[in-house]
Amino acid sequence: MRTPIIAGNWKMFKTIPEAEAFVQEIKNSAVEGVESVICAPFTTLPALVKAAEGTGIKIGAQNLHFEDQGAFTGEISGGMLKDLGVDYVIIGHSERRQYFNETDESVNKKMHAAFRHGLLPIVCVGESLEEREAGKTKDVCKVQTEAAFADVTAEQAVQAIIAYEPVWAIGTGKSSTSQDANEVISYIRELVQGMYGESVASQVRIQYGGSVKPENVAEYMGQSDIDGALVGGASLQPASYIQLVEGA
Ligand code: PEP
Repeated sequence: MRTPIIAGNWKMFKTIPEAEAFVQEIKNSAVEGVESVICAPFTTLPALVKAAEGTGIKIGAQNLHFEDQGAFTGEISGGMLKDLGVDYVIIGHSERRQYFNETDESVNKKMHAAFRHGLLPIVCVGESLEEREAGKTKDVCKVQTEAAFADVTAEQAVQAIIAYEPVWAIGTGKSSTSQDANEVISYIRELVQGMYGESVASQVRIQYGGSVKPENVAEYMGQSDIDGALVGGASLQPASYIQLVEGA
């Protein structure tokens, strides 16, 4: 009953012509019952929203500022993204936590900003290699998930996408086994149940992310609690992106 969702995270790749050409190539590849979202650099968003019109492909940003406006040079607000016709926004990606000082507190503020502007968050949680080796995977996911959802209502939470992304698996070619990923994702679902109850927990979609490719996407999707994938590297080529959506 949860619609599978594949989201591509293009990170800091693609110019406007490259983004337009990508949509031209994938636009007829919609698979019924699978939601497909491209999360792209800010500069390509207007062109992508236009190119994706009528295709069913949704467009997302990769970040937003938590204030609605103000003296925040270089930042983009939720209202500005909504203006462009963007549907989703990635929040708390590990690269932002690692390189741009994103904290659990700023992630939570960004969740509220997204909902204020009618954007759906794809909120990322996950442990580092050190934390995994110290047996802290679930503790880290608990702290990050509960902080992200602080003061978020049940009506909002049910619309959010949670991406479980073990940091050591992102862009490394090392992926979590589908069973391990499912175990952590089931645990995250239990956390959601603890915060919002059974109905929200059974509806909220939780993705796995970390070196997902066309060759392994079906294995993850075959797990009981995994509802999709957040995909970096393998989302950059149209042929591979189409296979990811088909594999879901
Ligand atoms: C990501 O950027 O969220 C990601 C999971 O990257 P990759 O698929 O390249 O590991």
